[in-house]
Amino acid sequence: MMQLHSYRSGLILFFTGFLVLSGLLWPQPAQLSPEAIRQVARPGQETILAAQLAPLTGQRFPNAYVFTGAVRRQLAQYNEQMKAQQKWDQQLSDDYLLSLTKAAITGPLSTRSGAWLWFILSIGLCTTGALTAILSERHPKPSTINNGIFNNPATNRGWIGWAAGSFLILFYIALYFYPEYLTNWILLVEPIKQAMTGQPASQWFLYGFIYTLVILVMGVRMLIRHRHNAYQQLRTVSVMFFQTAFAFLIPEILTLLRQPYQDLKNFWPLDYSFFFDYRINEKLQAGNFGIFMLVWGIMLTVVAVPVLTYLYGKRWYCSWVCGCGGLAETAGDPFRQLSDKKLSAWKAERVLVHGVLAFAVIMTGLVLFTYFTGQSALFGVLDSYSLRSAYSFSIGAMFSGVIGTGLYPVFGNRVWCRFGCPLAAYLGLVQRFKSRFRITTNGGQCISCGNCSTYCEMGIDVRWYAQRGQDIVRSSCVGCGICSAVCPRGVLNLETGTVDSRRI
Ligand code: SF4
Ligand code: SF4
Repeated sequence: MMQLHSYRSGLILFFTGFLVLSGLLWPQPAQLSPEAIRQVARPGQETILAAQLAPLTGQRFPNAYVFTGAVRRQLAQYNEQMKAQQKWDQQLSDDYLLSLTKAAITGPLSTRSGAWLWFILSIGLCTTGALTAILSERHPKPSTINNGIFNNPATNRGWIGWAAGSFLILFYIALYFYPEYLTNWILLVEPIKQAMTGQPASQWFLYGFIYTLVILVMGVRMLIRHRHNAYQQLRTVSVMFFQTAFAFLIPEILTLLRQPYQDLKNFWPLDYSFFFDYRINEKLQAGNFGIFMLVWGIMLTVVAVPVLTYLYGKRWYCSWVCGCGGLAETAGDPFRQLSDKKLSAWKAERVLVHGVLAFAVIMTGLVLFTYFTGQSALFGVLDSYSLRSAYSFSIGAMFSGVIGTGLYPVFGNRVWCRFGCPLAAYLGLVQRFKSRFRITTNGGQCISCGNCSTYCEMGIDVRWYAQRGQDIVRSSCVGCGICSAVCPRGVLNLETGTVDSRRI
């Protein structure tokens, strides 16, 4: 009774915080001052920016979105003129939309104390509520952790699942393409960014902060649910650590030290822009540490992937280190049963994931060709700039973000890892053909309950292998170990041995 009471209190707190957070998207008043323009202008662009925005300066806009629209028109008009004169380098970047809106907002979020207050009332309440609900959810037996999962509209593609998916998709579209509409949320984390680095927060800082917080909170949920399982405990702590330290804190510390921003556990081809000219140049210009980062990234791709995947399978990265995997294994855990198990899904998976890997290889090859030769196109047709834009839009933004994460509540938690991640494809090739990793099955014990297949987030029909006593050696298996955790008969074991001893 007491547990139910705290669970409900937690949910009430969470939804109150979420309502406040949603309400904060309501546009604030905005007024652009010459001082604000000076603050955000890049070196050399102060005069031209002030001239273009002169008609808006000093005007009071009751609605920041109207202000953003006016700024967009002014910048577009100027950029059209520059385009007509082929002065490409004199165009004003779209990034100004966000920085100018942030600088112009005059509501309660524009002060440090106001931002802190609303941060506590929104993100603070959501976090407290979620933790209260999670901590009250103590299941008497591990076997009861998924009870009722298919009767819950949040976890069975019901109305809550669709509503959550729609909300996430809208959020990702705003994040990637219209961050100025997230200005109020970015202002919530401005004091944190200022305290950490003394620099203004961007939409990517907001995203990194929320992403890390969600992994930590939902990681606590995994730790409680799987408290009887050492493997699950260790890998959950691992993803929580790598996200907090490597993806969030270290890049901010590097910024503070005036070093290139780099997540040191994220490497090509997942980090698809690693070999883009501006990123290579900023590392080369950063001296010894920059060169170390360049070599480190290349070594992870060329040496760590084959060696560690040979020894441990792709799980060393996908379920223990990766940020996408970290989110999938924590926030995405309630949706793992939604993965498509059909043969057609497997066929589509193989074509898509290897297609994206081929796309990444060709795009990067052309980018390096341009870097070393100075020519933008190979044979006069394969233009590296067009190809990198196409990849960034279709794979970097739409597939990995909007579809891959936005559709967790509809298609399961590993849509990106299974169908789109080029690094998963590369790791998978090594795992399939040259790895000591396999899941062994004790077929005689299997009662064909199907729990393993149901909760395999990669859509693998684990039961099919268990019934035949075959080892599971699949390129897509991320070694999450959940099939083994939910098996009531102890049929499945994640093991390593010699490559030739796999029973496939
Ligand atoms: S087969 Fe098991 S370990 Fe592999 S991805 Fe599926 S649930 Fe995870
Ligand atoms: S969960 Fe275990 S008992 Fe059930 S089908 Fe899978 S291997 Fe067999």
